[in-house]
Amino acid sequence: METKRVVIKVGTNVLTNKDNRILGPILRELVRQISVLYERNIETILVSSGSAIAGKEILGETNIDDSSIRRQVYSSVGQPRMMRHYYSLFHDYGMRCAQVLATKRDFDAGKHRENMINCYEGLLSEGVVPIANEDDAVSLTMSMFSDNDELASLVAELLDADRLIILSDTDGLYTGHPDDENSKKLTEVTVDQNVEQYVQASVKKEGEGRGGMASKLKIAKGTARKNIPTYIANGKRENVIVDIVDNKEVGTKFIH
Ligand code: GLU
Repeated sequence: METKRVVIKVGTNVLTNKDNRILGPILRELVRQISVLYERNIETILVSSGSAIAGKEILGETNIDDSSIRRQVYSSVGQPRMMRHYYSLFHDYGMRCAQVLATKRDFDAGKHRENMINCYEGLLSEGVVPIANEDDAVSLTMSMFSDNDELASLVAELLDADRLIILSDTDGLYTGHPDDENSKKLTEVTVDQNVEQYVQASVKKEGEGRGGMASKLKIAKGTARKNIPTYIANGKRENVIVDIVDNKEVGTKFIH
């Protein structure tokens, strides 16, 4: 399968350690792999979480009682911090990146959707890597994505990507708990296969990010149904993105 365009989603659990600090080496490995794809003329759109946790790292505990306002504040402070990391890492690899924030409403049919497509296509045509995130400063209730997995799926569909890669902190979908030696990792799942039963068993931990395995499975199947092969794989595994693009057996692949 020839790959020309991939959407990569990286969650907060991948980007942080147990103390919720952003992990520089993980970001660097991510960017290094995107540069490998770039050399091969494969376009990448990165959907990165991390703004809320980065904001918390900067501000510490706040006096804000309202959890929505707290999320807005943390994300608004943390988003430029994330972009500063990415900007300098991409620069190290001789590349350029851009920030594209969106709310769920932007994906409804109409002018916003068109504007978004034009922006992404414009950036990609200039060899710039778009880095998407939810516009957490303004997206509340109705205009909010369930999580960034949903945003990544919508971006993949919007831009006709050849693959969607969802990077998490597990190697994929298991038949039981990943640490249990009787559990097996599923390498390929078709959209009609009943694997929902495995979700509870395979959950490792719920971290700071919003989407868990149940949501990932739903999103992965939904995206695969639109003929975009989708992978759930471990973002902390070296070379994971390049290996997936090289069709090595990594993570769990969802196909139609
Ligand atoms: N947009 C949120 C952030 O960047 C993450 C949402 C999610 O965890 O899926 O922190």
